[in-house]
Amino acid sequence: MTRIRGKTIYEAECCGRQYAATSYASMNFMCSELWSDGWREGSLMPDSDGLWQCGCGQYHYWYLHMRQIGLSAQSDLPHLNLVPEHRLPQCIEQTRGTLLEVYARLAYWRSQNHEYREAFYALREAQQLIAKRDESDWHLANPDTRTWWQKLKGKPAPAYPHAAPKPIAMPAFTPSALQVENMQQLCELLTADSDGDSDLLIVAELQRQLGQFSASLLTLQQVPEDRSDEIHALIRHLAEAGNPAPGWVQGW
Ligand SMILES: [Zn+2]
Repeated sequence: MTRIRGKTIYEAECCGRQYAATSYASMNFMCSELWSDGWREGSLMPDSDGLWQCGCGQYHYWYLHMRQIGLSAQSDLPHLNLVPEHRLPQCIEQTRGTLLEVYARLAYWRSQNHEYREAFYALREAQQLIAKRDESDWHLANPDTRTWWQKLKGKPAPAYPHAAPKPIAMPAFTPSALQVENMQQLCELLTADSDGDSDLLIVAELQRQLGQFSASLLTLQQVPEDRSDEIHALIRHLAEAGNPAPGWVQGW
């Protein structure tokens, strides 16, 4: 489980401003759903894009360029808050040409996919409601008419014939011009300045969401075997099916 130990006090190298950040005694990285773009639904941990803005205007990535100056149970110092989603376009403009632009674009990409996630969750809920209604209709049509004697003899009650679970329908995915532009830029940045295998998986996913299925499958082939996890398999499956929509697997 995630346990909080207190506050860690940091000093920003840019201007010397001090901040308090939650200090974790233990961390729980579980989530209910893990999405193909790396989004963790229902996670207890803050998301991994980790961009925040100092009071002087400078952007930072997590605690890079921060000096840890102490620990405290309580602190009135301002907290490090991640850049809110609506400010990400501005953050991209201000970080152009730096490594931070990649993090800002990654966060923007994931936040722009939230609309799709909401459409998916609404469709899933509707599908579950229909399944429940079918089951209660069936029970109304097939009431338990056993006599006390039949019950005593162990005759089973009528049981609803559960069918194999239907795959959850995926709404169509039509990225906006803004989404496409951001994904293309991100693909270029990650390909130009790759720092290894994790980038390749992201590039494959971006290519798939852009509808470039053959390119996505080619990129996936370059991911080493030991990095071939469930997300790798999910991206491959969707690329082979010619589906550009964000996908998900059950979290853990
Ligand atoms: Zn500063």
